Amino acid sequence: MAVKGMNDILPPESARWEWLEAKVRDLMARYAYRNIRTPIVEHTPLFVRGLGEVTDIVEKEMYSFEDRLNGEHLTLRPEATAGVVRAVAEHSMLYDGGKRLYYMGPMFRHERPQRGRYRQFHQIGAEALGFAGAEVDAELILLAKALWRELGLKNVRLELNSLGQPDERKAHRAALISYLEQHVDVMDEEARRRLHSNPLRILDTKNPAMQAMVEAAPRLIDFLGEQSLAHFEALKSILAANAVEWTVNPRLVRGMDYYNLTVFEFVTDQLGSQGTICGGGRYDYLIEQIGGKAAPAVGWALGVERVLELLKEQGSAVPAMAADVYAVVPSVDVLPLAMATIERLRLLGVDVQMYAAPANGEGMGSMKSQFKKADASGAQHALIFGQDELSRGTVVVKSLRDGVGAQAERPLDKLPEWAATLQSKC
Ligand code: ATP
Ligand code: MG
Repeated sequence: MAVKGMNDILPPESARWEWLEAKVRDLMARYAYRNIRTPIVEHTPLFVRGLGEVTDIVEKEMYSFEDRLNGEHLTLRPEATAGVVRAVAEHSMLYDGGKRLYYMGPMFRHERPQRGRYRQFHQIGAEALGFAGAEVDAELILLAKALWRELGLKNVRLELNSLGQPDERKAHRAALISYLEQHVDVMDEEARRRLHSNPLRILDTKNPAMQAMVEAAPRLIDFLGEQSLAHFEALKSILAANAVEWTVNPRLVRGMDYYNLTVFEFVTDQLGSQGTICGGGRYDYLIEQIGGKAAPAVGWALGVERVLELLKEQGSAVPAMAADVYAVVPSVDVLPLAMATIERLRLLGVDVQMYAAPANGEGMGSMKSQFKKADASGAQHALIFGQDELSRGTVVVKSLRDGVGAQAERPLDKLPEWAATLQSKC
C-alpha cells in the first residue's frame, strides 16, 4: 500500500500530467521564465523562518525528521518558494539583475486527505525575483490566466487583495486584536490561540461559525498608506487594460507570513471546499529574512491535482496515447529483422508499439490475438512482418482506422520514403 494521502499516477492518467507539463513549459518560455530545480529536502529552520512559526504548515503540516547519520533537522518541502529563495541567495543569482523562474514538482504536507487535498501533491510555480514594480505582479497574473486559456480551463475567478507593508500591518493588527478581544465568545480554540500571535490568520478561518464575526473585522486595506495603494492601483490598471476581471477580497491573507502588498488567488466553485487552484503574491522581505541580500519578489503556485480535477470536472478528455504503428510479428524467426526495421522507423520519428510474446511461454501467439491487440492499442496502422513478404524484401502496412483494412506492401530498402506516411503527428 502506498502511504496514505500519496498517490500513484498511472497511465492513461499520466498522459494528462505530461500534456499539462508540456503546456506549462511552452508558456513559461513565451514569458521568458526559466526552469529551476531545488532539492525536495531542506533544513527545517528555512521553512520555520520563511513561512512563519504560527502558520498551519509549520505548526502541524510539515514532514520533519532528524537525519539519523548526522542529526540535522530536515523537512520535506511543503512549498517551493522558500527553497527557490534560498537557492537564489546562495548562488547570488540576482547579481546582474532580476530573475524570472519556474518550477514543477512534489510538495509534502501532513493534512487530512480528501478530494483536492493530499499529503504528497504537486505544484507548478512561477517566481520573479529582484523586481519591485506592480507590472511584474501583473505579468504573473497574466501568465496564470494564459495558462487557464491554453488548458481550456473555465470558471476560474481572480481574487485580489493588498496586505500593505509591515508598519501598516502593525497598525491594523492593533485594531484587529482589540476587535477580536471583544468577540472571543464566537472564536474557536485555534483562533483564540492565535489572537495575539497571528491575528491576521484568524481572518483566513474556514470555520462557518466565525464568518460573520470575521466579515465585520477591521480591514487591512483601510490601513494602507499612499504608496501601498498606488502599487495596488497600478496593478489594477494593467489588469484592466488586459481585460482581466477580478474581485477585491479584503479578507484574503494567504497561508504564509511572508507576503506583503499584492496577494491573489484563483478560485473555482466547481471543486467544493478545495476551490483554490492557484495562489500567490509579493514577498519583498523573504530573501533578507532567510539571510540573503534584500530584494523584492513576487510569485504564485498552482496545485496540479486541483487543476486536473477541475479539467476533468469540465469534461476535458484524456489526451490519446496511441502509437502511430503497431508491429505484428508472426514468428520468433523474424524478430531480429523486425526489430531492426522498427528501430529505423523510430529513428525517423514514428511511434511504434511492438507486439511481444505473452508470459505463457507458448511462442508468439496467434495472428488473431495479435491483431486484436493492434486494434485495442488505438494505433492508426499495423505493420506486419510476414515471412513471405520479408523474403521479397517487403512488409505489409495495414490501416486500422481510416479506411480500415486497406493494405499495401512496402519495400524495406525504400523505408525512409514511406515512413512519413505512418506518422499521425508532425
Ligand atoms: P488551502 O487553503 O486549500 O489549504 P493553501 O493556502 O494551503 O491552500 P498554498 O500553500 O497557497 O495553498 O499552495 C498553492 C496551491 O497548492 C493551492 O492553491 C492548492 O491548489 C495547492 N495545494 C495546497 N495544499 C494542497 C494539498 N494538500 N493537496 C493538493 N493541493 C494543495
Ligand atoms: Mg493549506
